[in-house]
Amino acid sequence: MNTNRFTGTLHLPGDESFEEACFGRVFNARRPFDRCPAAVLEAESEQDVVEGVRLAVERGWQVAVRSGGHSWATWSVRDEALLIDLGGFREMSYDATTGIVTATASVRGGDELNPYLGEFGRFFNGGHCPSVGIGGFLLQGGQGWNARGWGWAAESLAAVDVVTAEGESVRADERHHSDLFWAARGAGPGFFGVVTRFHLRTRPLPGHLAHSVHAYPLGLFDEVMTWLHGMHHTVSDLVEIVALTQTPPGHDEPLLLVTGVSMTDTPGQAAEALAPLHANPYADRALFRIEAQPTTLAEQLRGQRTANPEGHRYLVDNAWLTGPAEEVVPAIRKAFTEQPTPQTFTIWFSMAPLRELPDMAFSLQSEIYCATYVVHDSPERDGELRAWLDDAMARMRPVTVGQYLGDSDFTVRQLKFMGDEQWRRVQEIRAVRDPKGLFVGYLSTGAVSNTNHWEQ
Ligand SMILES: Cc1cc2nc3c(=O)[nH]c(=O)nc-3n(C[C@H](O)[C@H](O)[C@H](O)COP(=O)(O)OP(=O)(O)OC[C@H]3O[C@@H](n4cnc5c(N)ncnc54)[C@H](O)[C@@H]3O)c2cc1C
Repeated sequence: MNTNRFTGTLHLPGDESFEEACFGRVFNARRPFDRCPAAVLEAESEQDVVEGVRLAVERGWQVAVRSGGHSWATWSVRDEALLIDLGGFREMSYDATTGIVTATASVRGGDELNPYLGEFGRFFNGGHCPSVGIGGFLLQGGQGWNARGWGWAAESLAAVDVVTAEGESVRADERHHSDLFWAARGAGPGFFGVVTRFHLRTRPLPGHLAHSVHAYPLGLFDEVMTWLHGMHHTVSDLVEIVALTQTPPGHDEPLLLVTGVSMTDTPGQAAEALAPLHANPYADRALFRIEAQPTTLAEQLRGQRTANPEGHRYLVDNAWLTGPAEEVVPAIRKAFTEQPTPQTFTIWFSMAPLRELPDMAFSLQSEIYCATYVVHDSPERDGELRAWLDDAMARMRPVTVGQYLGDSDFTVRQLKFMGDEQWRRVQEIRAVRDPKGLFVGYLSTGAVSNTNHWEQ
């Protein structure tokens, strides 16, 4: 095979480097060794991607893509497909006249993009964990910092550069190739092209970040969460509100942490924005309290990195929830109060009051996002822990409207992830843009139906 057409490296099965090329950049240590790509191309340029797509067409292979390697179910490693790994293709440039930053897909939102933008006093609402690649994150919607107030990260896309199934490189925005631009904001791993560059609208770096944490014993779970459920929509939209069960560093037991991070410009604004969270009627029973303390993005990112340590096995699931507190709180109780391993954590992420979404493929959300991350190190415990997680998620079913692609795995269960009209449109565009099914699409057992499995 002529590999001179690439500046990057092509790895073939049988090469000593092949396994490392397949799995070396995968975040989740629970790896799908039963899936085997046809080849892995470590692309270094847009031209490499074009040549990679053309090679796949010549060989009759499908194409899978990897940017940051953070998909929990390792969507990038697919049987008989050319895996185009964009990890070695890293570029960023900022245009101060438009406020738009252009970044290649493997750039990491917290580790690379925001430190770079900080030099210009600008910010992008990338993923919470600093090492998440912007590629997979943006394509599925992108629940970045303060998604509740600033919206989904994909809403800040101005344009994308895409290598199509025909091996052509095009720029897609509201006016050109608008079908691709529409789909790139929410189709996630079902997208039918390789995005090489994202053009992103940035915002001014907030002048003053502050945070509040109230830590409660799990015995107060029902009381505290019922209160939070009734009031979170009233808090300023400059506050990211997350309640989570976690064993914080220095503690032996999991605690319920009710947290707020405010993105304002002054300490006075921060104190005012966070004050409603301090008025918790159970505050005097908190084990510790931090209130409107100044923080930095770097400190918040360090906390995220500690919560999501590398090198461990993760089992993850999620649900969009709706309903009154008396239904939602008991439905999520197991996920929050019975942690099966010390590093396991469950988050309750406020999106209330819900903002209207622009016209894009991403189209399903609710007031509360709930996700559980089971973290462990014993392959022999995978089955037992999976059963625990499945049961915790099954209990949420009565109040579940669907799921977010970012924390999903269709090989385990399928839930609705976009509106019916949007789902129809994604399939119509795919039929035109990728009629032969060059791109691997959603990884699933069985056909993808965009339906909650219990409603089929
Ligand atoms: C520790 C951790 C923290 C996370 N925190 C958040 C968070 O705060 N908010 C949130 O929304 N999500 C979060 N996620 C989920 C994460 O956003 C998704 O897993 C996302 O898919 C990761 O993107 P990636 O590029 O790193 O992953 P990859 O595994 O490289 O990509 C996932 C898939 O997306 C598609 N894809 C990626 N890049 C391209 C491209 N350039 N062109 C075409 N298709 C592409 C492919 O199908 C690919 O297989 C987190 C995940 C982890 C592991």
